[in-house]
Amino acid sequence: MSEQYDVIVIGAGPAGYVAAIRCAQLGFNVACIDDYLDEQGQPSPGGTCLNIGCIPSKALLESSHHYQQAEKQFAEHGIRIGQLVLDLATMQNRKQKVVRDLTGGIQSLFKANQIAFYAGRGTLKQNNRVEVIDHDNNSTTLNAEHVILASGSRPAELPFAPFDGKQVVDSTGGLAFDSVPQRLGIIGAGVIGLELGSVWQRLGAEVIVLEAQERFLPDADPAIAKQASKLLGQQGLDIRLGSNVESVNTDKTVQVAYTDGQGSQHLEFDKLIVAVGRRPNSEALCAGDLALTTDQRGFVQVDDHYRTNLDRVYAVGDLIPGPMLAHKGMEEGMAVAEQIAGQFAEVDYDNIPLVIYTHPEIAWTGRSEQQLKEAGIDYTSGQFPFSANGRARAAGETDGLIKVLADAHTDRVLGVHMIGPGCSELIGQAVIARAFGASSEDLALTMFAHPTLSETLHEAMLDVAGRAIHRAPSRKKRP
Ligand code: FAD
Ligand code: NAD
Repeated sequence: MSEQYDVIVIGAGPAGYVAAIRCAQLGFNVACIDDYLDEQGQPSPGGTCLNIGCIPSKALLESSHHYQQAEKQFAEHGIRIGQLVLDLATMQNRKQKVVRDLTGGIQSLFKANQIAFYAGRGTLKQNNRVEVIDHDNNSTTLNAEHVILASGSRPAELPFAPFDGKQVVDSTGGLAFDSVPQRLGIIGAGVIGLELGSVWQRLGAEVIVLEAQERFLPDADPAIAKQASKLLGQQGLDIRLGSNVESVNTDKTVQVAYTDGQGSQHLEFDKLIVAVGRRPNSEALCAGDLALTTDQRGFVQVDDHYRTNLDRVYAVGDLIPGPMLAHKGMEEGMAVAEQIAGQFAEVDYDNIPLVIYTHPEIAWTGRSEQQLKEAGIDYTSGQFPFSANGRARAAGETDGLIKVLADAHTDRVLGVHMIGPGCSELIGQAVIARAFGASSEDLALTMFAHPTLSETLHEAMLDVAGRAIHRAPSRKKRP
């Protein structure tokens, strides 16, 4: 006997749980399967993002930011405190509580939407049958008209630096240290390297980040990457570009050998986080007699409607090509559900916000100046520094800028790039503007509340036509 559903979703991360909820809203009878167990051995839907990614990392970024403010900024505001004490155990417990509350919320949403949740490993078989092996090794077979694969991704491992869970760890290990490492090495100056590096540097670790590429944040606009490099360096993050790690050995310490422009180098650390990207979980998703088409890197191939090569089998989220971001997966989860229901739905891949939650925050949407040059698109630009914004000055958060790129002929906003206070929220204004095809003039003619950080976006838009108010006029841009 097998249980029959309209839709089965394999994976309850942001892509999978959102797909399941949207399918239920559309009237489908839905099951969602997830194999993740928390540290107490309990099923914990929410995927990488809620359990070991977006949420715990942001909890530690917030806590470590408070700690650093108390240490370095309170005195400037006339607030003196006695001896500052770091209670890392409480900080980590708080992080876990935030995670538990949110993953518990997903279980409640499943119940409220009458989605059957199966804790265990799902394997797709012929004719859309799905076998679930639960955590006690019991097998159940489910059947569905449609199957959505949303099994996500896992950290990439370097062959010469296998994870040992103690000294050489992935991002999950790097979120769970029970003491602050004195010397922390990180391989990879990508998003995880910068976020986790910031957490432990703020809490007192000496952090060195080894990055193979010569360019820092190559996908960011060059002006923003330059500011980020300067500001993170001033905070004490030692980012070494052009570093090719050759070997990693462990005994009492972690010894890392690498080469750079100067020759062979050696470093010793107490802990090493390897953050060199993630791989899709596409192996072992299907029984051996099903040939699911993947690309060379293991990403499941889909068409514009998230259809795989298998009949009525779809894939979304980190499992398919594209930026590995929770919000991108969530949008795909909604879109695939609507397409299964016969509705029109599409994701705007040209307007995906990317945020790096360092301090200050880095965020962008659309094309960078370099990408526009490479594509031969004529553009105009405007920018405005947070140092000339009243609210930023009141907050003592004056580092950074917002830069706008607009089409030289139509004035349509092609890209918005920012580094500064509150940029994870400010970028949403740019995403909305671009979603409605706004021109820089549309935003220049919009009223923003004073005094707010968002006036920096307004001024950057005004600056496209050389009419920013709170800065000296640029000679090149007289209106
Ligand atoms: P996942 O979240 O990976 O979920 C897949 C789920 O499927 C997992 O629970 C997995 O255990 C389960 N699964 C796999 N195979 C099976 C199977 N056969 N049967 C049953 N279950 C299975 N993104 C952002 O947008 N913002 C951030 O701030 C951010 N921060 C991050 C910080 C860190 C440290 C990390 C590691 C990632 C971060 N990300 C962030 C990326 C984000 O977590 C992923 O893009 C997102 O989780 C992908 O969602 P998904 O649903 O595709 O897959
Ligand atoms: P990443 O792709 O952002 O960065 C990996 C970095 O490692 C790159 O700069 C790469 O050049 C470098 N690298 C690769 N191999 C190397 C080697 N052998 N030696 C030295 N450097 C090497 O990947 P990540 O930081 O691991 O993050 C994984 C994914 O998780 C990303 O796709 C990201 O989008 C997502 N994520 C997003 C957020 C966010 O949205 N704020 C936060 C964390 C993670």
